[in-house]
Amino acid sequence: MKILVLFDIDGTLVLTGRAGVRALDQALADVCRVPHPLEGVAFAGRTDRAIITDALQHIGAEMSEAALDAVRERYCVHLAAEVRRDSPHPKCVLPGVSAALDALAVLEAGGHVAVGLLTGNFRRGAEIKLGHFDLWRRFQFGAFGDHHADRRDLVPVAIDAAARAGAGTFAPCDVVIIGDTPADVDCAQAHGARAIAVATGPFSVDALGATGADVVVPDLSDWNAAWNAVYPFKPTQ
Ligand SMILES: [Mg+2]
Repeated sequence: MKILVLFDIDGTLVLTGRAGVRALDQALADVCRVPHPLEGVAFAGRTDRAIITDALQHIGAEMSEAALDAVRERYCVHLAAEVRRDSPHPKCVLPGVSAALDALAVLEAGGHVAVGLLTGNFRRGAEIKLGHFDLWRRFQFGAFGDHHADRRDLVPVAIDAAARAGAGTFAPCDVVIIGDTPADVDCAQAHGARAIAVATGPFSVDALGATGADVVVPDLSDWNAAWNAVYPFKPTQ
């Protein structure tokens, strides 16, 4: 059985020093000409499309594809600058991520897994964030937050993206999603996929444990233990 491994980005692979929040705040201010348009809007685990829809509604602006395109364009300009800026907030590749990707690359080369992204980020935003840390090149396909507001809708998108990339054909039960919020776990559970929850974002091990994730770890530094807890068999079996 080949397994499709899908990583969330923010709080799972990297922390960007809140560059995404600052860039989106500036982009919305550019387009809508109101100060601090993100006040009161929830972020964690949500798609960029959902966050922008809420923000526009919050400030009484009309949500349309044209408005979304305009915000996304400004967002990517600001994000490219903000991701390079010093920040008082943590900005790093999270513990264990590089070793986990290396370990998965070995399995991928052997045809046992395919590794992609499942993220609420716009595709271009994902590229900017991961590119800053030289991680974008590690992923050949993914599902992004451009066209779907609900994270649950991204699981079949990721499966389609894997097939189109020639990475294989997968049923949802062959998917494992790695993320840092209850929303990551929820989108896995909604499709009968597995979930590895990692407490390197805003949620604690206890909070993530309450989601019923298959595995909850403080970070990915013991990747083999996390992986073996979900797939306690050799990948050739
Ligand atoms: Mg996240």
